[in-house]
Amino acid sequence: MATATGAVVGVEALVRWHHPDRGLLEPGHFINLTEETGLILPIGRIVLGQACRAARGWQDRFGVPLTMSVNLSARQFSNPELVQEVADVLRITGLRADLLCLEITESVAVEDVDRTISTLDQLKALGVRLAIDDFGTGFSSLTYLKRFPVDVVKIDRSFVMGIDADPVDSAIVTAVLGLANAVGMVTVAEGVETAEQLDHLLGLGCPLVQGYHLGRPAPRDLTEVALERNLRGADTPSAAPSLASTA
Ligand code: MN
Repeated sequence: MATATGAVVGVEALVRWHHPDRGLLEPGHFINLTEETGLILPIGRIVLGQACRAARGWQDRFGVPLTMSVNLSARQFSNPELVQEVADVLRITGLRADLLCLEITESVAVEDVDRTISTLDQLKALGVRLAIDDFGTGFSSLTYLKRFPVDVVKIDRSFVMGIDADPVDSAIVTAVLGLANAVGMVTVAEGVETAEQLDHLLGLGCPLVQGYHLGRPAPRDLTEVALERNLRGADTPSAAPSLASTA
């Protein structure tokens, strides 16, 4: 995740599976199965732990606050032990709570609104930041945006894809930016893949961006190299990571 000036302000943890025969698999190939079987719970714990440990290490090494974003699936979010697990991982890793951002998608958030608000309130009380992911693909209810105690709205990549050509995408992003500003949330545009998309988003006043144009998913060691270059200055946004893989 980067600002208009190309400074990296955060990283999103993405899971990969090193399959013995099929090589490196992206979540699309296995995450639904782990969600169905419940395997997502132990995997999610490992991802959260590794992400927080990495972020804590970077906090010490670079001395600048970098947000670590971690995605929560439906099953993880409805796990009654989630809040305690997050509290534990913050205590064990020593990561500043406000440097952890937990992301849930809009569709997960609206499954049971009262329970969502209660869980978000409890997570909020730990001091972590909260994000609505893939915004615009679910119900996009403005009422929910007002009721959910979230800090960040992540605009779905589908609106970013054609933003430099399609005035409707532009209008949607402008509307979300205005809305998010009005309720005190920060907006991140996801899936920025070209310089044209980036220029357009910055022109609309979008404060934060992430995607392949800023940095491709990379393992932890390569992410560190890119962070080092970006944070020590003299770097272009194109070399900055927005994503890191874990597990
Ligand atoms: Mn996400």
